[in-house]
Amino acid sequence: MLPEIEKLLVLQDRDRKIRALKQELKLAPLERKELDEKLTEAVKKLEAVKLKAKEIEVERKKLENEVQAKRDSIAKFQTQKFQTRKNEEFQALSNEIKRYEGEIQVTEDRELDLMESGDKAKALIAETEKETQAIKAQVERQLANITGKIEAVSAQLQELEAERATLAQAVDEDLLDTFERLFVNKSEAVVALEHDVCMGCHMKVTTQTVVRVKGNREIVHCEQCGRILYPGE
Ligand SMILES: [Zn+2]
Repeated sequence: MLPEIEKLLVLQDRDRKIRALKQELKLAPLERKELDEKLTEAVKKLEAVKLKAKEIEVERKKLENEVQAKRDSIAKFQTQKFQTRKNEEFQALSNEIKRYEGEIQVTEDRELDLMESGDKAKALIAETEKETQAIKAQVERQLANITGKIEAVSAQLQELEAERATLAQAVDEDLLDTFERLFVNKSEAVVALEHDVCMGCHMKVTTQTVVRVKGNREIVHCEQCGRILYPGE
């Protein structure tokens, strides 16, 4: 194999690794965002559950006050009842008391239902709090992992880029230029020629190209895709 091709293959290997590491770095903010969103969602869910419980408690308290107000009224009616001398008024007050007692019964039934709902809501809060804590711990762990990964990848990238710079210095400037352009545009710059087929574009090359590639004396490009060819088989 041509020494230039050998150099380019090493360079291409480093460039591939550099590209993969850069891709990993690019994904990190997205991964972070996803984790942040997951945590936000969990916290929101917990807040919603707490709000629901609060609403139930407010409603229950309201009913409790209603009942108390009616009991106060009944007490007042009782006093009035024994103060009045009019039979009609006495009867009217008795009716009112009876009506209020009926209403209190209905309200207290609703209050009981709400207390039951309140207990369920409290249990749900406890459960959701536990879930949220678990998610929070998991997210924090994963965020720390990402930070660690970014540090490791950055260090590796720096090392590779330094090595790559040294390797590139040993390659002819024009050839390096061609190589870099092909690598960016075609994702691979140097590919094998196997059974007369370019492994970059998977097209059969001409016999003349095959002979030149196998001759190992010059840089030969695939006439279809332009990639640099080396004898593979
Ligand atoms: Zn090709």
